[in-house]
Amino acid sequence: MPAATIEHNGISYRWPDKPVAVVCIDGGDPAYLERGLADGIIPNIARFMKDGFSAVADGTVPSFTCPNNMSIVTGRPAAVHGISGNFYLDRKTGEAVVMTGPELLRAESIMAALSRQGAVVASITAKDKLRQQLGKNMDLHSGGRKGSVSFSSQCADRCTQAENGIEDVLDFVGQPLPDMYSPELSLFVLDAGIKLLETRRPDLLYLSLTDFIQHAHAPGAPEANAFYSAMDRRFGQLVELGARVVLTADHGMNDKSKPDGTPNVIWLQDVLDREFGAGRSTVICPITDAFVGHHGALGGFVRVYCRNGLTPRDVAGLVAGLPGVEAAYERGEAAQRFELPEDREGDVAVISDAGTCIGARAVDHDLSGLKGHRLRTHGGIAEARVPVIMSEPATDAYARRAEAGTLKSYHVFDVALNGAAVA
Ligand SMILES: [Zn+2]
Repeated sequence: MPAATIEHNGISYRWPDKPVAVVCIDGGDPAYLERGLADGIIPNIARFMKDGFSAVADGTVPSFTCPNNMSIVTGRPAAVHGISGNFYLDRKTGEAVVMTGPELLRAESIMAALSRQGAVVASITAKDKLRQQLGKNMDLHSGGRKGSVSFSSQCADRCTQAENGIEDVLDFVGQPLPDMYSPELSLFVLDAGIKLLETRRPDLLYLSLTDFIQHAHAPGAPEANAFYSAMDRRFGQLVELGARVVLTADHGMNDKSKPDGTPNVIWLQDVLDREFGAGRSTVICPITDAFVGHHGALGGFVRVYCRNGLTPRDVAGLVAGLPGVEAAYERGEAAQRFELPEDREGDVAVISDAGTCIGARAVDHDLSGLKGHRLRTHGGIAEARVPVIMSEPATDAYARRAEAGTLKSYHVFDVALNGAAVA
């Protein structure tokens, strides 16, 4: 018999009293929900918001996918879990280091902890880059009814019992492998969760989607509404199958284009080279990963590293005055303000406003993938507001926290496991 509570990363969680499904709608800006409610296309979410729990929380800044997913699943800020972007610059070697692997993660996920205590846990992501971090130290081979699983829809055709705790996933879900750039990549995650709920009845599901639609389509666009409507049907199914559903997002999304439709970019490396001379600074865009077609590696948060006598103060002083820059903080202040790991922070963190994004050198960014779309992207403070919605009402204590505006994205599992007013 498992313990009634489990201590994890300094927080006490109640053992799931029923299947709990936490869904991270990647790029799920609150504006999509507002528009979906107005258009009447998300009846299940509307019901959760009315009869259950609904709040807007502060997500991790930089408002990127990996940092926020790790904040959600570890229940702690990036200062503790260590993942503050897709890239950071190793000061010793001067090399950009990929941060999306499991080796740089400094805190364990709640999924790992519960699976090792004998719970059946399902961790499913759209993109495989997240899978290893999410599944780190999960027990996929013992305990539980039919064992825990960790896989991505991107690689659903390659799952093995040893690596993922499940095989033949395409047959299991009854769908073909979804395209990397499609809404189906996300819907497959939800459908796999529904199938697992029908067959293995996991104690905990973490279903993390991809922001392909949100990068390409504004709230209210037919493609966006179709996607939200398709998700909403599946959220309804999860509840019908007996799950408590908790919806959140890793970050929001803003249109960062000029009136003529071209991206509204500050090419920061070009600006710094012009002002201080070439070779005195390095701009790292921590949104960069292998799949940048839909945003051209342009986001709302970059890190500047100073060299050859250039001081952070000089950089921050210049940059703070640029049109479109919301804030520029030196390392210590950035780490403190946003609860980031200081050893992985740049000398200056530069954050753009809602309508602007930041790149390095104009010649180094390939924007051909935008294919005539307006650039929609994220990374700044303006994209760090995320919804937290639960299909059941919360206790008074959690309702008060939501009203006080003190809810953070790293409280999502706290709400999901401890916050429900169980009848
Ligand atoms: Zn994301």
